[in-house]
Amino acid sequence: MIWDLHQTTWDVWCPGYGSNMIFFSDFDGTLTLDGHLTKDFFEIVEYVHEKNNELIIVSGRSVSWGHFFLTHFPLKACIMEGGGVILYVDERGEIVQEPLITLLEIDRLAAFTVKLQHHFPNIPLSADSFGRLTDRAIEFKFMDEELIDDVMKFMDQENINYSKSNVHINFWCGEVSKYLGVTQFMAKHRPIKEAKNCWFFGDAPNDESMFELFYNSVGVSNIKHCIHRLKFKPRIILEGDENVGAKGVLRYVKSVS
Ligand SMILES: [Mg+2]
Repeated sequence: MIWDLHQTTWDVWCPGYGSNMIFFSDFDGTLTLDGHLTKDFFEIVEYVHEKNNELIIVSGRSVSWGHFFLTHFPLKACIMEGGGVILYVDERGEIVQEPLITLLEIDRLAAFTVKLQHHFPNIPLSADSFGRLTDRAIEFKFMDEELIDDVMKFMDQENINYSKSNVHINFWCGEVSKYLGVTQFMAKHRPIKEAKNCWFFGDAPNDESMFELFYNSVGVSNIKHCIHRLKFKPRIILEGDENVGAKGVLRYVKSVS
């Protein structure tokens, strides 16, 4: 069975409330607050767990972060590297890692990364790029706009895909998106879960594939800084200081479960 968010007419559906729900969420800027992991994050994890619902982090961070999440929190799965890798805890309690692109694409990415560093010797690859499997990331905080544009043009010429989050420019080869990662995860690991019982929270352009295709999509209020750049916006956009990042996710999750 293919898990399809368009399995029926959304307009006649009421989003699910209560239990038996999955809350997918981006991490940076959505489950954090001003770059920090606050008590709101821990409260979200605890609240979702207590209600017998599930939190699945869908992040551009590396697979190593996924191992951290699954090791230290009561989470059963996460989707990392912008949808490139699924990680889940199997019935023996072991963490299993499933890349969603081919070895050929993984090799092409490695070769491009060498070429990129040759062309732009001073661009800062993220410290965790060495541990990434299906993508790499550039920390653009100290790069000027002109250099960011040049790097993106170079990626276009080389047929490399990329997306800009609030911390990184992630780049990869092949078909990778948060949406593809989530639909493949659902088809294989949660095939009987109904789409109307699934929510997604995000805050940035790298969440756009989810906003486009996920009916129950929610933007935390800090999305206002980039909302004008989004072609596809979340259906629900939270507002106000009380809905920034993890605070907004916590309030919303409590309101529907
Ligand atoms: Mg984010």
